[in-house]
Amino acid sequence: MSSNNKLLQRLTQKGDGFNGLVLDGGMGTELKLQGVFKNLNEYTTLWSAAALLHEEGRQAVKQAHRDYIDAGAQLLITNTYACTTEILGKAGIEHRQEELIGHACRLAQEAIAESGKACLIAGSMPPLSVSYRPDLVADDALLKAGYEKIATILEKNGVDLFMCETMTCIKEAAAAVSASRACSSKPVFVAVTLDKPVKAGMKRRRSERAAPSTVSQNLTSVLRSGEPLSELAAQLNEQVNGFLINCCSPEAATLGLQQLLEATRHQKPCGVYANHFEPIPRDWKLDAGGDGSGGLLTIRSDLSPVEYAKYAQMWADMGASMIGGCCGISPEHIRVLTETINSRPGAKTVKTATATDATDATIDKDDHTAKRRSGCNSPGLEGKSPDLVADLDGGAAIEAQ
Ligand SMILES: [Zn+2]
Repeated sequence: MSSNNKLLQRLTQKGDGFNGLVLDGGMGTELKLQGVFKNLNEYTTLWSAAALLHEEGRQAVKQAHRDYIDAGAQLLITNTYACTTEILGKAGIEHRQEELIGHACRLAQEAIAESGKACLIAGSMPPLSVSYRPDLVADDALLKAGYEKIATILEKNGVDLFMCETMTCIKEAAAAVSASRACSSKPVFVAVTLDKPVKAGMKRRRSERAAPSTVSQNLTSVLRSGEPLSELAAQLNEQVNGFLINCCSPEAATLGLQQLLEATRHQKPCGVYANHFEPIPRDWKLDAGGDGSGGLLTIRSDLSPVEYAKYAQMWADMGASMIGGCCGISPEHIRVLTETINSRPGAKTVKTATATDATDATIDKDDHTAKRRSGCNSPGLEGKSPDLVADLDGGAAIEAQ
């Protein structure tokens, strides 16, 4: 069996402690930190695709991939998030889509080859025009055409699997998944970005099929469209190889992971790669404002590599099969979380730290004994409880109103 097949197999194996894969961290934010973008306008118009246009930028992309591999990542996501017809079209270079996606796949392959390590490549299937905006998702015909084009190019360039990521609504996710399936026999994963959870019984809980257990816990994880995660799992369970939460706060992702694991009855690989941002406004656009500055998102100050690793440890204990980071999560974050989840004391005895325990311990802010009876020995959870309570219970917005 090849190294890559062994890695793929690990995604579905259930063992004591974390036996899944470490994913990489953010790419666009990492490139910005490295000074790859010539100006703000380039960044907010083409974002991470801009780095593929010149050799210096391409070397920076390869180096970022390499930094993540050296930090412990076993799965890289291609730097193709902004390589959609719509985004490239803003700079009049939509005709270069295939070339740029080809560059991105090659850079990931070269980084892995030069590292000498086993690592998978996931082809990114992103929102086609704007992130975080379910209200701006295209119609079915445009989604199908856009995603089939990207999936075809990714398949041609030899990705190991498809990651339909930062999906904001079920329609968008279903279209990206269907296109991946239509163009390839490789595994397909879907990662969604979450809104602030809603209380059970609120109007935005649109589905009667929400998992009863989530109702009893008072809070329901929802996509930015307001659709419950349980509904996503019900609709796409047969089509995907696994579900993830990405590009939202680790607080929202923790509740989301628990509800995904329940909705899939722990039968599907589930994972998290959260971001490092302050809440994302509901009307956000990357190129908002005349000079594009309106699209810049703020990096929160309380998510050091050590703090993020505490969340990662909790996700590993809950049963996550994939753990990494999204925007603003750096190679150093990945290095510390890799060390943490692979070497945490008693890794084989923390199976009692169930998802339900974790959520009980965090959402019930009036019951301070909850933390003590939770059975979760995660110092991250204990230390984070007050903030989690405030965020998850609506005391502070996870995603801005
Ligand atoms: Zn992100």
